[in-house]
Amino acid sequence: MRFRCLLLLICWCVHHVSAQQQAHDPVVLVIHGGAGTIRPDQLSPRMRDSLHTALTAALQAGYAQLQAHHSAIDAVQAAIHIMENSPLFNAGKGAVYTQAGTHEMDAAIMDGATLRAGAVAAVSHIKNPIDAAIAVMRQSPHVLLVGKGAEDFAAAHGVELAPASYFDTPERKRQWERYRQHRTSEIFQPGKQARPIADQAYYDLHEWGTVGAVALDDSGHLAAGTSTGGIMGKLPGRVGDSPIIGAGTYANDTTCAVSCTGTGEYFMRALAAKTLSDLIAYRHMSLQQAAHTVIFDIIQRMGGDGGLIALNTKGEFAMPFNTSGMYRGYITRSGKIYIAFFQDEHP
Ligand code: ASP
Repeated sequence: MRFRCLLLLICWCVHHVSAQQQAHDPVVLVIHGGAGTIRPDQLSPRMRDSLHTALTAALQAGYAQLQAHHSAIDAVQAAIHIMENSPLFNAGKGAVYTQAGTHEMDAAIMDGATLRAGAVAAVSHIKNPIDAAIAVMRQSPHVLLVGKGAEDFAAAHGVELAPASYFDTPERKRQWERYRQHRTSEIFQPGKQARPIADQAYYDLHEWGTVGAVALDDSGHLAAGTSTGGIMGKLPGRVGDSPIIGAGTYANDTTCAVSCTGTGEYFMRALAAKTLSDLIAYRHMSLQQAAHTVIFDIIQRMGGDGGLIALNTKGEFAMPFNTSGMYRGYITRSGKIYIAFFQDEHP
C-alpha cells in the first residue's frame, strides 16, 4: 500500500513538472516514423543519422506551417510529405510490398475542430497518399475511398500520381526477397486456410516506417494524420488501422489528436485512437494515462504491439509504445526539437 502511494506521488510529480514545462513551451507538433522490433545494435550510426535528419526535416516543415499561422492540417500534411517522400519510411516512396509484389498504401487525416475526416486505402499510384486523404475530406461528401475509385478521385482533384515503380527502393526489394524466401510458404499459401491473426510469424514480419503527425495550431485546433504502406507481405486488398478513423487516426479538440503505428489488426479491433479519446472524455483520464492505458492495458493485453503519438490543446503529449522502439520526435512552440528511437531515450 505504502509503495503504491509512493508510486502515485512520483507519477503525480513527474506529470506535474512536465505539465508545467509544457505550459511554458507547449509542444505543437509530434511525429512518428513507425514502431517495431529493431534493436539498438541493429541500427547503424549512418542509418541513425539519416533517420535523425529526415525526422528533423519533417518537424521543421510542419513547424514552418505553424509559424506562418497555417492550420494544424497544413502542419500535419507538410510533416507527412517529407516522410512519404523519404525512402526510409514505409509510406509513399519506400512502401512495403504486398504478397503479390505490389504497393498498396493507406492514409488518413482528421480535423479536431470540425471532426471532419478523409482517408484513402489500397492505393498504388498516388505519390503522397496524405494529399488524397485531405482531398477526400475537403472535396467529397465521403470519409474513405479505396483502390481505383480513390485514385480516380485524386487525379480529378489535382493530386499528383506516380507510376507503381516510383515506390520501389532497393532496400524494400531486398526485404521483400527475404520475406518471399523465408515466409511465403509458411504463412499465406494460396488455398491454405489463413492462420489465426495472432500468428507470431505474421507479426514478426512487422517493419518499421508507418508515419504519423499530430499538430496544434495558433487557433488552438488539433489535427492528426497517418500514412503507411501497411505490413510487408500482406494479402492484396488488406487494409490496416491507419486509414480507419478511430482506429489508427483520430482528432478532437476537446480531447486530443492521435496517430497509431503497429500491428493494425489489433488497433482496429480495439478502436485504439477513439478509445484513447473516450478515456479522456468519459473517464476523465489525463492524456498520459489514457495513452498508456491504450498501449499497455488494451493493445498489449490483446497480444498486439506498437505505439502511438497523442497531443492535446494544452500542448501536452504522449508517445507510449511496447515495441523495442518507435521513431519519434516533437517540436515545441519555441522551436526546441527532440528526437528518439528506442525505449530508454527520454527528452
Ligand atoms: N499500422 C500499420 C498497418 O497495420 C502498420 C504500421 O504501423 O507499421 O497497416
